[in-house]
Amino acid sequence: MKTFDIAFIGAGASSLMAASFLKDKAIAIIEASPKIAPKIKISGGGKCNFTNKIVSENNYLGDKELIKKTFEKFDEKDLLKFFKEQNLEFELKEDGKYFCKNRSDDIISIFAKLTKHCKFFLEHCVKKVEFKDEFVIKTEKEEIRAKKLVISSGGLSYKSLGASDIGFQIAKDFNHNIINPTPALVGFTLQKDQFWMKNLSGISIPVSLHVKNKKFSNNLLFAHKGISGPAVLSGSLYWDNGLILVDFLPNYNIVKLLSKKSKKQISSLLPIPKRFTKEYLKSIELDDISTDKLKNDDILKIAKLNNYEFSPAGNFGYTKAEVTRGGVDTDEINHLSFESIIKKDLYFIGEVLNVTGELGGYNFQWAFSSGRILAKYILSKDNM
Ligand SMILES: Cc1cc2nc3c(=O)[nH]c(=O)nc-3n(C[C@H](O)[C@H](O)[C@H](O)COP(=O)(O)OP(=O)(O)OC[C@H]3O[C@@H](n4cnc5c(N)ncnc54)[C@H](O)[C@@H]3O)c2cc1C
Repeated sequence: MKTFDIAFIGAGASSLMAASFLKDKAIAIIEASPKIAPKIKISGGGKCNFTNKIVSENNYLGDKELIKKTFEKFDEKDLLKFFKEQNLEFELKEDGKYFCKNRSDDIISIFAKLTKHCKFFLEHCVKKVEFKDEFVIKTEKEEIRAKKLVISSGGLSYKSLGASDIGFQIAKDFNHNIINPTPALVGFTLQKDQFWMKNLSGISIPVSLHVKNKKFSNNLLFAHKGISGPAVLSGSLYWDNGLILVDFLPNYNIVKLLSKKSKKQISSLLPIPKRFTKEYLKSIELDDISTDKLKNDDILKIAKLNNYEFSPAGNFGYTKAEVTRGGVDTDEINHLSFESIIKKDLYFIGEVLNVTGELGGYNFQWAFSSGRILAKYILSKDNM
């Protein structure tokens, strides 16, 4: 049976980038899904938000030094240059996000072309890996052997797209430590006191959301199960449990607005959807009266909307989370090569590592950068 030089588990962003640069190698790419890059395909509403105008270690949870070093070698400018050279049409949108101009399929086609030299094992779900002089990768269908093994199997979110915990399992089997994985970039479920928000399903409003020492100014979407939208998804990256603070009228001082005694009803005066104000007033047991009738105490109760503190009940889980926070401990990974410092010739790249980016293209940037660095390292080793 043939032994490949390198086998990648997962045909996602990180492995496709790495394999594109390893032209003279015998490469196997093993993927559980019937097609390559299922997450690239559906991401960014089908247009893949693949990076951001400003990328730094501050946009990530994880080892800041590793992230910084990685971007020193391959950052957002290098990624844009790479895609430009591949004639990808892309555009810059709100919040510095870069998207494909047409469809995310354009990125997938680029990688399909650049990885023509690779042998793809599609619809091959990896179950286990053993080491017997070489890596023996056991799939449901067959065994694949390789001298080097790259774990590029991503995180746990969106099982429907092929996600599995195989990366963590293999890491554990080779004595790696895993930082507790949890869903991130995900909506929050609510406790009883905030159930009034559930009646607002479908409404989206600009807010400032504060989690720990981070502030996200963006839209919050009221959803059937809780709250979501870009501000919440970003905030979820930094939330473990406990309080978050939302300013529902970030550009207005509610006390000032309501102190101008007027014949207008509260819901007409506040510059926020009436439905929102009415639900909130119900929750604090106030009628939607004209503001000239408001007592100071009532004004203060309504003004809580400028700094509304509460603890989410939890989050929507892996079926809705864009990424997995946590993962393979980067303390046990060589920061120059992404090789395990425990097991020679075993590598980890992309989301399987304990590096998680904010919303805005940061996770693909990490996947592409780590893949590119791995390829550079393997090529440089060959030339030594
Ligand atoms: C709905 C959604 C939208 C997203 N949108 C964005 C966005 O716009 N911008 C952004 O930066 N990030 C986005 N992300 C996150 C981004 O997709 C990931 O961070 C990125 O794809 C990680 O790349 P990766 O190569 O590490 O893993 P992946 O791209 O996840 O690739 C891993 C591959 O491994 C395969 N695999 C898993 N287990 C096995 C197994 N046992 N056997 C064989 N194959 C296996 C999977 O099927 C998958 O194809 C989004 C994620 C989701 C779920």
